[in-house]
Amino acid sequence: MTNKLREICYWCGKAAVSMEHVPPRCIFPEEKDVKKFYEGSYRKNLIKVPSCDLHNLEKSSLDEYLMATLTSKVGNNSLAFIQTKTKINRTLSRNKRLLNVKHSDVIEIGNYKFPISMIEIDNQQLTYAFEGIARGLYFYKNNQIYRGEIKVISEIFNNEDYQEAMIFNNKWIKIIENEAIDWGTKVLGENSKVFTYQFSPIDGFNCQTLKLCFFEGIKVYVILNGMSEENRLKHQKNFEFIQENFFD
Ligand SMILES: [Zn+2]
Repeated sequence: MTNKLREICYWCGKAAVSMEHVPPRCIFPEEKDVKKFYEGSYRKNLIKVPSCDLHNLEKSSLDEYLMATLTSKVGNNSLAFIQTKTKINRTLSRNKRLLNVKHSDVIEIGNYKFPISMIEIDNQQLTYAFEGIARGLYFYKNNQIYRGEIKVISEIFNNEDYQEAMIFNNKWIKIIENEAIDWGTKVLGENSKVFTYQFSPIDGFNCQTLKLCFFEGIKVYVILNGMSEENRLKHQKNFEFIQENFFD
């Protein structure tokens, strides 16, 4: 990365005033919380990108919301559970309104008891957080700002109020997961128990999918539709041709 690039925000290109972790650092457990069972660090070589004030998500409360939502999800690894019992509890005691807990319970698996919480997911906030991570990783990888459209798809957006959106969502997840088998690209991330990411190859339409995985459980797919205006027009014509000639 050249010095000049270091000075612009990974999202908007304005002058950068600080470095932003992608994903936010708070997602990665602190040594003091895991030292009883793990001697190493889960904060090895965290990724940082230059950022303006507006796009430094770590300065907002969004990063805490993201952390709390991700780690409390059922199906994660044990590390997420420890993170919930330590850092999340400290955060929640400071900010009781961070999560909207609908229902709390204890489930028993074998001889172990696990407290679980059903939380109301704020789709919009989470989408914005994942978009920020995708833009950050794109900048980190390519040394340039991502200029196309972004669509975020994940099972984490489960919400009874959005049945229709969920059917669409789940259909796409299946398609992408099938494709991902053949991507052949590297899964990256030095703290793989906490976070990994993988870019798909770029297809003929200049589209690319980024797969994010948190705590070996939650998967988020970010579709980067980087189709150029020229390409878009070309396909628009094809589409119109099909519409006019093959349909009534
Ligand atoms: Zn910015």
